[in-house]
Amino acid sequence: PIVTPQPTTDVPASAALLERATRVIPGGVNSPVRAFRAVGGTPRFMASASGPWLTDVDGNRYVDLICSWGPMILGHAHPDVLEAVNSAAAKGFSFGTPSENEVLLAEEIVSRMDPVDQVRLVNSGTEATMSALRLARGFTGRDVVVKFAGCYHGHVDALLAAAGSGVATFALPDSAGVPRSSAGETIVLPYNDLAALEAAFAERGHEIAAVITEAAPGNMGVVPPAPGFTEGLRRITADHGALLISDEVMTGFRCSPSGYHGLEEHPSGAADLYTFGKVMGGGFPTAAFGGRADVMAMLAPQGPVYQAGTLSGNPVASAAGLATLRGCTPEVYARLDVVSRAIADATSAALTSASVPHTIQWAGSMFSVFFRDAAVTGYDDARDQDTDAFRRFFHAMLGQGVHLPPSAFESWFVSAAHDDAAVDHVLSALPAAARAAA
Ligand code: PLP
Repeated sequence: PIVTPQPTTDVPASAALLERATRVIPGGVNSPVRAFRAVGGTPRFMASASGPWLTDVDGNRYVDLICSWGPMILGHAHPDVLEAVNSAAAKGFSFGTPSENEVLLAEEIVSRMDPVDQVRLVNSGTEATMSALRLARGFTGRDVVVKFAGCYHGHVDALLAAAGSGVATFALPDSAGVPRSSAGETIVLPYNDLAALEAAFAERGHEIAAVITEAAPGNMGVVPPAPGFTEGLRRITADHGALLISDEVMTGFRCSPSGYHGLEEHPSGAADLYTFGKVMGGGFPTAAFGGRADVMAMLAPQGPVYQAGTLSGNPVASAAGLATLRGCTPEVYARLDVVSRAIADATSAALTSASVPHTIQWAGSMFSVFFRDAAVTGYDDARDQDTDAFRRFFHAMLGQGVHLPPSAFESWFVSAAHDDAAVDHVLSALPAAARAAA
């Protein structure tokens, strides 16, 4: 159910800001899922954040299980990242010329991600997928793109069909304003269904430029690829001369030092192009697309595929991303595992005690809780859950100082700064929240 946010009296400073924001910003927010439309109530306006904690403008503290939707893998305001940002900013904010930090960031990404020979830096995950599509179309000379229902790749026209994430939260099938011609060049198929992909290629294979997939979908909740699915994508695209684009914007540098690609449980082979964002910017607006050198050679200024950006490779954002990636040590990944297992196990135990049907699914240390008792393999399953139970659970957690993503269709994110005190705080809130969900 879509609940219109009602300013609540318990957070007067957030309610006052929401009222002002709503006058000058549509819905009062700059990205729809922040508006609490699916859960109701007043979105909390944050004043500051440190480590695993958020502090809102009313002075309430929350353990953060959004982590800016992924980027804050080291926790908020990590001292090393702060130092890198301060020192870069002191040397100038943006040059509009090449600079060293962007080279260092690109080298770091290429060294972590085996199949990637080259990257181009952009400013958001949306720009990365949009540019990867253009490049794939330019390289193959074909127009049609295949995506999977429930995968979100940013708000790119051609990719806003059955797009999960915010679109699922608002129960929108698509977006108004997307030209029919653009949507008409997108084939949407069920996730984890190779037979459907074989059939689409049998019919239109000569028109298909690329198949784009989330390396492990996290935008309909977490739905890992079934064994053999990604290998099937690789084989079928290669057989038909189409490119495979693996979107690692969410999973990249989070699921492993490279991404979902680097997990042993995922022997996928290489995609032709990858997209990255979130963690690689450390909380600043930077993202990337990259892959095979012969494909990347098609980009301007060498090749005919145009792509550009005033702030692309920004020296301050690149410094933040580089410091974050350098901080992603084996100890950090080990801590993400410990924290996410502890929270997921306790959530499951609390929901079980309160007899609330639920299923928890994983991609590396990313997980999500579906309020249904059967496994989720695709978008139809994900939408078949008790979103009202989630809404009650969400508010009971929020009221006890734990900020979950305000939607049942999102991964929960943790950071390496989630220390035992933060984890214990989450665990202590779970039993009452589970009873509220029942
Ligand atoms: N691709 C994936 C897998 C994402 O999860 C997202 C954002 O959530 C995007 C692309 C779009 O990134 P951005 O919001 O930076 O435009």
